[in-house]
Amino acid sequence: MATKETISSLYKEQYQAEPQLVAVAPGRINIIGEHTDYNDGFVLPAAIAQHTVVAVSKRENQIISLYSVLFKEEFTISLSELKPQKHSWVNYILGVVDQLVKKGCAISGFNMAVDGNVPLGAGLSSSASVECATAVALNQLFQLDLSKQELTQIAQLAEHTYAGVKCGIMDQFASMFGKENHVVRLDCKDLSYQYFPLELGDYALLLLNTNVKHSLASSAYNNRRAACEKAVEIIKAQYPEVTSLRDVTFSMLDELIKEQHPEIYPKAKYVVGEKLRVEGVCEALEAGDLAKVGALMVETHQGLSKDYEVSCNELDFLVDFIQPIPEVLGARVMGGGFGGCTINLVKKDYIDTLIEQIKPAYERKFHLELTPIKVSPAEGARIL
Ligand code: ADP
Ligand code: MG
Repeated sequence: MATKETISSLYKEQYQAEPQLVAVAPGRINIIGEHTDYNDGFVLPAAIAQHTVVAVSKRENQIISLYSVLFKEEFTISLSELKPQKHSWVNYILGVVDQLVKKGCAISGFNMAVDGNVPLGAGLSSSASVECATAVALNQLFQLDLSKQELTQIAQLAEHTYAGVKCGIMDQFASMFGKENHVVRLDCKDLSYQYFPLELGDYALLLLNTNVKHSLASSAYNNRRAACEKAVEIIKAQYPEVTSLRDVTFSMLDELIKEQHPEIYPKAKYVVGEKLRVEGVCEALEAGDLAKVGALMVETHQGLSKDYEVSCNELDFLVDFIQPIPEVLGARVMGGGFGGCTINLVKKDYIDTLIEQIKPAYERKFHLELTPIKVSPAEGARIL
């Protein structure tokens, strides 16, 4: 576990001084709202307890000195020579620095030690947690007075420019705005947001990492986006007020898409349905109805598997496995699909039993390891 104490002492070993401050930013999960961001829809993420911590101090010169505890690696660069580095952890930090420079913020060189326990590449956005921890730390260190919204955008742009990943805003938003025991519903159209209670009582969230990523993912992503755009274009001709699938109803689909364009109909139907399922989960959370939340998660999974066609055998196996088990209220693939994790809503005292059953069954069938990851909704990025 990376804490203020551990990172401070590692910083001290590296730089022979106490850090001026320590900042933390979490990874994230998404309860529901998948493939909705590029359709102007809603997502429902939460920050989690796994996080990245950074310890920083100003330097008197223009040198940026970075140290990764995880990779046991040092890196030094001058502010005047900032540019993306080849496939390295430093990009998530330098990308943030570059955005601050481009904004005209008055910063000097600094020392930074970074550590964390967000699993890398598991779909929990460890990259966003590094960016957000960096943004929050430098904002405080240099007294920049940037808002949380501005820091979120800086972190997203860092990922676009220095990591080369054109991500949406959800990951950085969730890491920055997460609130303990809450989910946050983000409107991807105008970035307005609202918190909903995630009080799990006897239940908990468990991720099951399939440890696969099928190569179809990026071509399928482009193809799904194109199907959504085509549906909007057709409907818009009849209903000019429609600008995205967010504005589309089932009756519009029945009238204009179902018979006429059967190849895109299931895709559009999934997205329109997912908007309603996000609303359904928010209402169920306010009413404390976790069984309803679980049932909607399973509906989303079926939609992603049968209609949107972004699942795979490994994910479907895990979701089918839990369905007859009364102690598991629901499960679905989390993230873009074709691999990664399922997110499961499980009775706390059944978690170990579930792992004992599902792990060997999965490993026998697919000859791959299944990695369980326990997660709970936690506080967003902050100075410690
Ligand atoms: P994800 O965001 O889904 O976890 P990414 O591939 O987007 O996966 O980001 C993972 C990368 O983020 C790692 O390869 C590493 O470069 C960087 N990273 C994440 N956590 C840390 C950490 N604690 N220390 C240094 N780099 C980290
Ligand atoms: Mg990432």
